[in-house]
Amino acid sequence: MTERYALIGHPVAHSKSPFIHQRFARSTSQDIEYGLIEAPLDRFEETVEAFRRSGGKGLNVTLPFKEQAFAWCKQTTPRAAEAEAVNTLTLDDAHGDNTDGIGLVRDVTLNLSVQLRGKAVLIMGAGGAARGVVPALLESGVGRVVLANRTLGRAEAVAARFPSVEARTFESLVSERFDVIVNATSAGLSGEVAALPPALLGPGVLAYDMTYGSETPFLAGARRAKAQTSDGLGMLVEQAAESFFVWRGVRPDTAPVLRELRGG
Ligand code: NAP
Repeated sequence: MTERYALIGHPVAHSKSPFIHQRFARSTSQDIEYGLIEAPLDRFEETVEAFRRSGGKGLNVTLPFKEQAFAWCKQTTPRAAEAEAVNTLTLDDAHGDNTDGIGLVRDVTLNLSVQLRGKAVLIMGAGGAARGVVPALLESGVGRVVLANRTLGRAEAVAARFPSVEARTFESLVSERFDVIVNATSAGLSGEVAALPPALLGPGVLAYDMTYGSETPFLAGARRAKAQTSDGLGMLVEQAAESFFVWRGVRPDTAPVLRELRGG
């Protein structure tokens, strides 16, 4: 029997997740359907429960519900508990996971062939996405993780939970040097740019923007500075593959889907 999954968020209409999961299902011969659910901002739990009652098996969770999804779960994986954010729900047992971090690490190390062991990594932002990737980055053996955020207190709250992570303002980074800079802010969505000191971007640096779909001011600046650049499309596909594995126990091949999304 066809089993039903969906992405829940607000908004979700733009999402590529149905396309990605349908491709995964076809290539692994899994009988699933994957749809989109735009939940009212004040009705996350009711919407999840209604989908579960109607036979829904699992949900991916996007903005702005990842923290509410964590609160809804009866049990979570350690990586979701560390992030206090859930992007993958298994509904039968109210189980939550967070696959964003492994998605980023796989995209960087496997698709972009940039090794992370011993590297200095700057994460811009301290929201759900930034928190979600910290555990996986630490596990990948990076040498240093710094979190810079417009609102310093929010970065400090994250750093307080991960003893080896430093919280900083953007301005205080002027004379620092990072191998990898990850933009996990939502600034680019509105065409804005966080106040990153321009000298941090240059040859030998990977500038990675979690957003995708259009070039953000962050990526445009990094390109001009001759840094290596990547948008977050590969992370989207890799986190989806990990969610698919959590639900179905089968790991789909991501390369053909990513190629197709990039129009190749
Ligand atoms: P969030 O919880 O709302 O956090 C937003 C972050 O952006 C906060 O740190 C906020 O700083 C910062 N910010 C917003 N506007 C800014 C500006 N003009 N200047 C500087 N900082 C600004 O959002 P999120 O869930 O972490 O998501 C962040 C981004 O990651 C979104 O674009 C999302 O689509 C993307 N994402 C992509 C993937 C993927 O698979 N590729 C996965 C997850 C998320 P303050 O704390 O100061 O407000």
